[in-house]
Amino acid sequence: MTYANVIINLKTRQLDKLFTYFIPPQFRGNISSGHRVVVPFGRGGYVDGVVWSTTDRTPDFKVKAIVEKLPDDYALSASQRLIMQLLRRLYMATYQEAYLAVLPSVQKLDKNVQYNVLKTFDDWRAGQQLDPLQLTGYSAQQIAEKVKSGHLQKRLSFDFKHHKKTVEWVVKRYGDLTAALQQVAKRAVKKQRILRHMAYIDALPTTDLCKATRATRRDVLALVEAGFFELKERDWQYQTAHWQVLDKPAVAPPLSAEQEVVKRDFLAIDAPRAALLNGVTGSGKTRLYIELVKRVVASGGQALVLVPEISLTPQLVARFSAQLSAEIGVIHTYIKPADKIAIYQRIKSGDIKIVIGARSAIFAPFNDLALIVIDEEHEYSYKSETIPRYHTVELALALAAKLSIDILLGSATPSIKTNHLVDVGRLKALYLKRAFSGSELSDIQIVDMTALPSGTVLSTPLCDAMKACFEKSEQVILFHNRKGFARMRQCRSCGYVHMCRNCAVPMTVYDGGRQFVCHYCGYREPELAQCPICAERLFDVGIGLEQIAGELQRRFAERTFAVIDADITRSQTRYRAILDDFESGRIDALIGTQVLAKGLDFANVTLVGVLLADQLIHMPDYASTERAYQLLTQVAGRAGRGIVRGRALIQTYQPEHPLFDYVINRDFAGFVKEEKRVRDAVGYPPYVAMFVVKVQSEDELKAYEQGRRIYEFYDKNFIKNDIDAKVYPPLQPYYGKVRQQYRLQIVFKVALRSRAAVLKTLYYGIVKNKYNLIDSTCWVDVDFDG
Ligand code: ADP
Ligand code: ZN
Repeated sequence: MTYANVIINLKTRQLDKLFTYFIPPQFRGNISSGHRVVVPFGRGGYVDGVVWSTTDRTPDFKVKAIVEKLPDDYALSASQRLIMQLLRRLYMATYQEAYLAVLPSVQKLDKNVQYNVLKTFDDWRAGQQLDPLQLTGYSAQQIAEKVKSGHLQKRLSFDFKHHKKTVEWVVKRYGDLTAALQQVAKRAVKKQRILRHMAYIDALPTTDLCKATRATRRDVLALVEAGFFELKERDWQYQTAHWQVLDKPAVAPPLSAEQEVVKRDFLAIDAPRAALLNGVTGSGKTRLYIELVKRVVASGGQALVLVPEISLTPQLVARFSAQLSAEIGVIHTYIKPADKIAIYQRIKSGDIKIVIGARSAIFAPFNDLALIVIDEEHEYSYKSETIPRYHTVELALALAAKLSIDILLGSATPSIKTNHLVDVGRLKALYLKRAFSGSELSDIQIVDMTALPSGTVLSTPLCDAMKACFEKSEQVILFHNRKGFARMRQCRSCGYVHMCRNCAVPMTVYDGGRQFVCHYCGYREPELAQCPICAERLFDVGIGLEQIAGELQRRFAERTFAVIDADITRSQTRYRAILDDFESGRIDALIGTQVLAKGLDFANVTLVGVLLADQLIHMPDYASTERAYQLLTQVAGRAGRGIVRGRALIQTYQPEHPLFDYVINRDFAGFVKEEKRVRDAVGYPPYVAMFVVKVQSEDELKAYEQGRRIYEFYDKNFIKNDIDAKVYPPLQPYYGKVRQQYRLQIVFKVALRSRAAVLKTLYYGIVKNKYNLIDSTCWVDVDFDG
């Protein structure tokens, strides 16, 4: 092939197209789609790009030539190329956005100049290669003359700035450390900890091992000296599954009869298999994932396990690595770029067969992907809120169908959308109805708060239940979805609310009232006690986690509490230390936001409390009831995972809300049926498609005019082209201004048969701005759900 159509790495929304380049003879035959290249662009500039297709047809315009082909290591896999196509087709991503999505990190192109000496001159002989540094004795003009006279040839070479560093690893010399444990003195607590930590792990970076075990390098060295470990320099560091292993057996236990049936039913589906596993918490969904992953890996394939947010589920990774005794590539949001590049290379080469990751792990360069598992498929975090805006479940289903990959979605409370896919026959439904331990599901009760004095956070039933738990040395988890000390500070006489100066958002009170923080832009301000308008005292409104922790400490002075919110989970060491302390009983109760609802498994927790369920029900979007149901069920599932039956107490001011009946009776099927009926009647997804165009501008008027323009354009366009869709006039979202940007939304409700047509016109109108509607930031949220 003589020509290549290339996606170039330039932000070119309006020029969102492929660029054609000539393939010079030296590259011919070894450039094909997926290869990455460097091409000239504009005046004297160079950019990297990826070959999308090749052709022998001579274009009818003048083209430039590809200057460099990057090493094959960098080439994109077939799954990545397909993902790029899907991102374009389903979510209107530009070529560049799709390209960047599948790269492990932002790679900066480095241009190197070299000179070949063609004819001998001065001290230089023909055939030598010179670095520009060697020619510092010559002026730029002199060099240019030497090039012109044929003495020198200028050569460009390109590579990505790559910071390879070596890292010291502790590598186990024997698989079994039992003997070592006996040999090391009991008093040597840190050494004991190291040995126990390494029980199911082959190797770890020294620094990580020290961090995890609170030991020093000296302790490690002593164990190396004793012959249990050796130290090795490795030229990259990657985060393998070196999470705390919590005394789990290293062999996966045999499947139960019920699990065996599900496995058989899954394998009986015609390939590529696609199924939804609806299984109550603790029924063995994860056990089945492990089984299916094992099967795929045994036959040489790769498996991808997606989890909502991996940093919240360290136990899951530990269990996979212990029971599969295979290397696992872990990809999550907080991974360092250098580590990610290393993992990507090893996934591409096939060294890593199992990847566990958050949503973006689907972009990894698989060559033999044979199974995708999506755990907790209903989780909101599967939807990306940044470019490219995609929905992982939808993307994975499309990828699996195209590449004949098996896919299994799992959840205790599958989303309405996924239930709908079962209805229309795209997924086969499989069920696990009982918790494996045989223990009964926790008993859920509603606590009516209306009768209590206002401002009460802990009802008597909840306090009594906690007390009873503590007396039996059992543990408690409490949920409250509000970080900080209080939601806002307000003046009771004039109604003034202390707002963020950048956002139309009340500032959250922190630090016992000494600080204000804006959750939207991070802006901080010191304490403010008096109303700036009428000088009256300001009051805190909406109790936050900090206050609750204080209140609990007063009531149960001899107990230990720990607060967990998203900020804490961001620090893996701190978060794991807290979980560790909770596991071992040094902490009696955890109080946290919904980050605590996910995947944690503590046998000694017998009571769970939801302090204010009302916060969940009245969010301003159509999916809020669904989400409230899921969260309450999940939360209740945190209790009673051991032998004792658990209890969940849900405090609310609307005890008669119909949602609670479904939750208490665990009538998920009933809930889904009713929710579907409502959505079908009112016209909400999945019965219609819903898109939202979001407009942002520093200038309020500009935002408004633009919103108006978009609305009017599409209103006419749909009628004119007979498209079955409705566009609604621009509206302010819940918070109309964030980070000094005014925001507007234009909602589109689209009949399913017109979905593709609407996506296409939105692509031309909003992405490419073909009709001159756009003059500030603007994007489309495809399949908006809140
Ligand atoms: P889920 O993912 O549905 O919450 P898990 O796979 O985590 O369920 O199983 C719940 C608990 O039961 C775990 O502690 C797990 O180790 C145990 N378990 C599940 N299946 C088996 C089995 N076949 N044999 C022994 N233990 C099992
Ligand atoms: Zn702000």
